Amino acid sequence: MARTENDTWDLATSVGATATMVAAGRGRATQAGLIDDPFAEPLVRAVGVDFFTRWANGELSADEVDIPGHPWGMQPMTDLMAVRTRLIDQFITDATASGIRQAVILASGLDARGYRLSWPADTVVFEIDQRQVTDFKTATLAAAGAEPTVDLRAVPIDLRDDWPAALRQAGFDAHRPTVWVAEGLLAFLPPEAQDRLLDNITELSAEGSRLVAEIFLSATESLEVMHTAAQKWYEHGLDARIDDLWYGGERHDVATYLDERGWQTTRRRSGQLLAVVSYRYRYETTARPKTITAPRNSACTSRQLACTARSLRRARRRVCNRPREDVRRGRTRAARAARRSVRWATR
Ligand code: SAM
Repeated sequence: MARTENDTWDLATSVGATATMVAAGRGRATQAGLIDDPFAEPLVRAVGVDFFTRWANGELSADEVDIPGHPWGMQPMTDLMAVRTRLIDQFITDATASGIRQAVILASGLDARGYRLSWPADTVVFEIDQRQVTDFKTATLAAAGAEPTVDLRAVPIDLRDDWPAALRQAGFDAHRPTVWVAEGLLAFLPPEAQDRLLDNITELSAEGSRLVAEIFLSATESLEVMHTAAQKWYEHGLDARIDDLWYGGERHDVATYLDERGWQTTRRRSGQLLAVVSYRYRYETTARPKTITAPRNSACTSRQLACTARSLRRARRRVCNRPREDVRRGRTRAARAARRSVRWATR
């Protein structure tokens, strides 16, 4: 269903279903030992969209639900979740290691970083999403006995509304540096709302703040690729319509926009990132317009990206040979070692 100005959703419908989709990707990537998000699969199961549940728990195979050779599908989405989760986990870890004690996860969906990352004791993490989304995740994890690993504060509000006021009301301190995460969000905002969001982030960012933002579906071709992939998922029982939720039209290039407002940005093309997970993406670097931009006062270097690539490939080779139950828990020694060896630079 096309978007409207004040539309709302839960995690099984409209934009909310995309949060369940990417969490299903994290569940599957956890099963493959590429990341460690033990909350992803249970959360997806709790939402109850059968297609995503069966993808998350490994019941569906890529052969069944993806078009061979097509650049988008459940498996490419899952691989992307693996690299984007690792990159952003590391980004946050580096930010807190540098002394930042305040984080804002925009459009948090089923993100469980507030439950699975080790945060310094005095850190506050704010999660912003629509109320039905934040309430569901909080209640489901509480019912499962999961406890946040940090002072985690949900800020239920639409990002097209006055979210800075709601954030301040929840205790956000604009005088302290912040690490911001905008993962899987920007294309769901109209172009002018994207500008407003970036302006607000800039306004609320004390010196030393950092931002990681994912840019996706920024080209007409990627929308068509998405439509084609989704048709196949609908044939396999997905009833949430998830391929018509993005705002088209001209929008500012995020990195340039931020550069002009005092940020120092670094871009990473998703093809470059995906190539570290699988040989499948070696040739696809030009087909994907996605970029990860980051951060104020910090940068990723290509040498270190190469280190990441090497360790991830090693991890993938090793975990493939391990017993399924061991892999499912995402706790293989190789994967842990690879996670430790991921390093990003700051300057
Ligand atoms: N960041 C999460 C992740 O990577 O797992 C979720 C990404 S999901 C693809 C998109 C998320 O954006 C959903 O949780 C949705 O509710 C949220 N979202 C999109 N537009 C929003 C808006 N205007 N206000 C609040 N949340 C929004």
